[in-house]
Amino acid sequence: MKKHNFYAGPSILSEYTIKNTAEAIKDFAGTGLSILEVSHRSKEFTAVMDEAQALVKELLEVPEGYSVLFLGGGASMQFCMVPFNLLKKKAAYTDTGTWAANAIKEAKLFGEVDVVASSKDKNYTYIPKNFTVPEDADYFHFTSNNTIFGTEVRFDPDVNVPLVADMSSDIFSRPVDVSKYDVIYAGAQKNLAPAGVTIVIVKDSALGNVDRAIPTMLDYRTHIKKGSMFNTPPVLPIYSALQTLKYYKELGGVKEMERRDLAKAELLYSAIDSSKMFVGTVEPEDRSIMNVCFVMKPEYVELEKEFIDFASTKGIVGIKGHRSVGGFRASLYNALPIESVKVLVEAMNEFEKKH
Ligand SMILES: *Cc1c(COP(=O)(O)O)cnc(C)c1O
Repeated sequence: MKKHNFYAGPSILSEYTIKNTAEAIKDFAGTGLSILEVSHRSKEFTAVMDEAQALVKELLEVPEGYSVLFLGGGASMQFCMVPFNLLKKKAAYTDTGTWAANAIKEAKLFGEVDVVASSKDKNYTYIPKNFTVPEDADYFHFTSNNTIFGTEVRFDPDVNVPLVADMSSDIFSRPVDVSKYDVIYAGAQKNLAPAGVTIVIVKDSALGNVDRAIPTMLDYRTHIKKGSMFNTPPVLPIYSALQTLKYYKELGGVKEMERRDLAKAELLYSAIDSSKMFVGTVEPEDRSIMNVCFVMKPEYVELEKEFIDFASTKGIVGIKGHRSVGGFRASLYNALPIESVKVLVEAMNEFEKKH
């Protein structure tokens, strides 16, 4: 049976990415070797790295003066690398979910952290607005898409200090004005590649301004200087990332991805809003188009498990909500076809009729 993959991460990848990765596992670039066993310094892999960096720059229109890095350690490593490299005295953060809170915790190891707004009071079901970022903050950090709670900031905020964003779960789902940012980072396992690589886009001039000593591996300048080849990079995930980037370009780039993502989200949210059984958990204006969180209304709540089982008979996988929200979460990343969303909506309608 065809599966409809709604996992939040690691998550669905395009058939193009999986097919090309599978082929390269057998024979990489005509070398007669598997991508699993080639040197990262071979000319064939160096070409992969160069092309992947160039395509990130092209798709996101990264301006001059920025570097694109492919690093290990996950997005969680960036929670400490950002303040290690950028925090002189004070940084401003918004607390919009589990990942944002983790980033705040790490930043506090390096200086003063001004949490300018939080939505924790309502279990992170909205994006706080009307806050001010102090002008003397070294940067303002926010999580553009809160993967667990299903809220999203789909624009580049206007503040008086440089921006830093964790875009792990919505990068490549819209055009971004990179020139507003000092750092953008994203773990690849949500919208790009298998787990193991993190994309970092960093403004070169933002570096070298802190007094503290930075361990070599945690210093962005190390990786910029060596083109993400200071140590062995995650070769396979980078190869897969390149396939996905090529695929995005072929489809028409991030504007086209956004058009598709909006259509998918609209379809699912309108089904939720017109349902007598299901209800969304997030303030409508702050809803994520990547991760759709919903629950059953109180009078039906004991049917949640049964719905997950029912959905699985239709090939629907990965819709169980994170334990801190409960209910359901359908992740609609770029690679998910709208047909899968239609199958989910039909399953919801059918289940509702049955009860
Ligand atoms: C998944 C996720 C993370 C954590 O990524 P790791 O690669 O597991 O460290 C951080 N931030 C956001 C927004 C995420 O979705």
